[in-house]
Amino acid sequence: MISIFPIRAFKDNYIWIVHNQQSALIIDPGDATPVLTWISQQNLQPIAILCTHHHHDHTGGIPSLVQEFAIPVYGPVHEKIPGLTHPLTEGDMLSFPELSLEFNVLDIPGHTAGHIAYHGHNCLFCGDTLFACGCGRIFEGNAQQMFTSLQKLASLPDKTLVYCAHEYTLANIRFARIIDPDNPDLIQLESTVEEKLEQNIPTLPSSLAMEKATNPFLRCDQPAIIHSASQHVGRHLNDPVSVFAAIRDWKNNFQ
Ligand SMILES: [Zn+2]
Repeated sequence: MISIFPIRAFKDNYIWIVHNQQSALIIDPGDATPVLTWISQQNLQPIAILCTHHHHDHTGGIPSLVQEFAIPVYGPVHEKIPGLTHPLTEGDMLSFPELSLEFNVLDIPGHTAGHIAYHGHNCLFCGDTLFACGCGRIFEGNAQQMFTSLQKLASLPDKTLVYCAHEYTLANIRFARIIDPDNPDLIQLESTVEEKLEQNIPTLPSSLAMEKATNPFLRCDQPAIIHSASQHVGRHLNDPVSVFAAIRDWKNNFQ
């Protein structure tokens, strides 16, 4: 039986631990300390580190963890990841027999140039590309690239659970409500998420079905989103990539 546990790090990061009460995978360890504490409390044996992209809040804990456990480090071939032993790119498959788990690798550039995602067991570990009701900032790519990467993730099965790396959900919903004000699924999600956060419960994982219903960055072909984006830029936008670029830019400057 596989469990997936969120370890909180920094202000709003989640380091996901995939385990079966014995063996554990550590995903995007930005900080080693909370991982070491939790793993030893739970008496788990780490077997590998999986990394989605090079940002320090996803990789900063790798050197200490490797020093402690001497485990392999999987990550994107095109990025500088400390201690990387298994460089990955689209189409690669990872197998962890200890957990009876396999993951496919997807290239999802945009937030960073070499960003990858891991998909398997109905779970998606997508780092800083797809967030619940939002998406990552475009630091190293362009809007077309990010749009294509998000569409690739959206094409996975609806039941896929989305394990992103930050608790940004409520802020994302506040923005989404402005550009998609009459979306009933979004209104419902806002109250569900507020209740969870009041009880200090993570709002993740989400699901791709929920993201397709509520995430404006996956809904750039919807009339309400096209209308809001067009109003914001002051001209009619008639293709989804332009709509995406407009709302991504809008969100960058949204308080
Ligand atoms: Zn990042």
